[in-house]
Amino acid sequence: MSAIDSSESTPDHRGDASPFAAKKHYDLIRTRRVAQITVSVIIGLLCVAGIQFYHQAYHEVVILAVVAMLCGVLLLRLRRGRVEQAATAIIVILMTMAGLMAMLGGGLRDAVLYVFPGVIIVSGMLLSLKRTLMVVITIVSYLMLTGLGLELGWWQHETEATGISTALIISIALLVNGFSIYVLHMDLVRLLSKLQAENRRYRETRKRVQHIALHDALTGLPNRRLARERFNALFELSKRKNAKLALLFIDLDEFKIVNDSSGHEAGDRLLQVVGKRLQSCLRDSDTVCRLGGDEFLVIVNDVVDEKALGRLASKLIAAISEPLKIFDMEHSCSASIGITIAPEDGDDFDALLKNADMAMYLAKDEGRNNYQYFDERLQQDANRKVELVSHMRHAIPDNEFSLLYQPKVRLSDNCVIGAEALIRWNSETYGSVSPNELIPLAESSGFIHDLGYWVIEEACKDLRFLKNLGFEQFHLSINVSIAQLQNQNLRTQVAEILDRYGLEPGAIDLELTETLLANDHSQLSSNLDHLRELGMSLSIDDFGTGYSNLGYLKRFDVETLKIDRSFVSDLPENTNNQAIVRAILQICEELGMRSVAEGVEDEATLAYLRNIGCDAAQGYFWSRPLPLDQMIEYLQNASKP
Ligand code: C2E
Ligand code: MG
Ligand code: MG
Repeated sequence: MSAIDSSESTPDHRGDASPFAAKKHYDLIRTRRVAQITVSVIIGLLCVAGIQFYHQAYHEVVILAVVAMLCGVLLLRLRRGRVEQAATAIIVILMTMAGLMAMLGGGLRDAVLYVFPGVIIVSGMLLSLKRTLMVVITIVSYLMLTGLGLELGWWQHETEATGISTALIISIALLVNGFSIYVLHMDLVRLLSKLQAENRRYRETRKRVQHIALHDALTGLPNRRLARERFNALFELSKRKNAKLALLFIDLDEFKIVNDSSGHEAGDRLLQVVGKRLQSCLRDSDTVCRLGGDEFLVIVNDVVDEKALGRLASKLIAAISEPLKIFDMEHSCSASIGITIAPEDGDDFDALLKNADMAMYLAKDEGRNNYQYFDERLQQDANRKVELVSHMRHAIPDNEFSLLYQPKVRLSDNCVIGAEALIRWNSETYGSVSPNELIPLAESSGFIHDLGYWVIEEACKDLRFLKNLGFEQFHLSINVSIAQLQNQNLRTQVAEILDRYGLEPGAIDLELTETLLANDHSQLSSNLDHLRELGMSLSIDDFGTGYSNLGYLKRFDVETLKIDRSFVSDLPENTNNQAIVRAILQICEELGMRSVAEGVEDEATLAYLRNIGCDAAQGYFWSRPLPLDQMIEYLQNASKP
């Protein structure tokens, strides 16, 4: 017994759940069971021996005592890992004993045969199937042989006189059997409850893992995957019912500002609040999901009235826009929503989501804080965009791009001091494509790097040509997109082009859009620093339309502010714009920058700008953007600096 551990705790409870530990534990339990059964057998044998002794059946007493001794020896030598051998030995000893005693005693009616059912059960529980079968076959064969022998008269048995002693012996045999069955049964019960507990734990873990996989960790809302699953299920149902389903794609308008200005924690809190507010506006049958970032999706089930979707979208926008306090600071955030309806706007989740996204962008373009339905026009726009992108890649080798130049005039003496290079795409398939359409597409498709390179090279080539014609002081402004500034090679490319055409970097001015500069990327900053180091000057284009983070004006050593056309066009009448333009001129004066007004179309505007001290201007008043040859003509007739 010394080899047997006294603890019956499961391996899990001891914190070791490896298969090796489980096997060790199983061996331990089996060893203990064999020991317990052996002890009960020895007690049984000794009791029966006592009864037989009382009846002076000494040869049976001897057999029983020898068997009890053998069992005792086995018990002492019982070791973990050799349980099966020990159990086999005990079963063989008991079978031999029962067979022998029945043979010598009452034959098939001997009470000792009550041992057999117990032997079979214990073998079934502790031995391998093969060994158990052998035990059963041996017992059956013994019984058959005994029966056959009796039938054929090979031997005869006297029917034992039955009485209290026989009843005792049978009771002892049954008690030992019962005890063995009980302990083995308890093992089964324990095993079963352990399995049930494990099964419960497994199901709970699986549920948790599924929840994590299908929900957004921050808001607890269903994620894109679950949204897709729910949509698919609802879509199947709505097809059968001939009903409609809608997707509302929601994008927060000023989330980035909250996130950048107040930190990610505030941003996270805002998203959680928005999630709750959206949920509070919806029916139980509708689903709100977070797609990622500041994008949410609402799946509206059983759409009866399409106009009601617009009302729902307005309600959602109103709920989102309500001011909220985060970490003692008041924030407010509006939203733009795109609406698609299934099945007419698409027949699968991805197509509908894409269309809803497109409608949402239209809502943003239309001034944000509103909603838009997806329609055919948007689909056509999307198709056109895809086609334009694929065509624009051939437009450089096909010579479809050209540059126009718009003169820039110094207001103090009306001298043309330079020009802005503006791209034109005259596509064979689409005709003239506006730069306002071309540039964003080139940016989103990555084509801007090739296009930007082409513009810089073409502008430098033309500037060289102009300088060779004698316009030595001429200065060119080139529009540069933010995407170009994220290109690591930009500096080397620009330096190489300037070198190729023998131009001073000072002859080139780069125009950057103000909104774009507010995003301070490290690659962008280092590129700007490098271009400044080369000697190029920087202008902020469309000034006054972007975020009013003025820190970058000093940071990037900006030379010129270009006042956006929207403030200039109605300057003589619009007092608000007058105030804005004066303020911009004030900034220029304070920071030692030059001012250029864009979009001057008439004499009155020019007079006003000159009066308030604007340095330079450009616009249709002097000239529309011109091709190079006309620009040369214009320059030849204009006043030179
Ligand atoms: P921008 O740089 O602000 O250019 C001024 C825009 O105003 C030009 O439009 C010009 O034709 C127009 N404009 C000039 N004077 C007047 C005027 O008196 N009245 C009116 N109504 N408009 C005037 P355009 O050529 O269509 O270019 C639009 C925008 O596309 C440009 O705005 C610039 O941001 C971008 N862009 C143009 N060429 C390039 C380029 O080569 N590279 C990059 N990245 N962007 C470019
Ligand atoms: Mg410009
Ligand atoms: Mg501009």
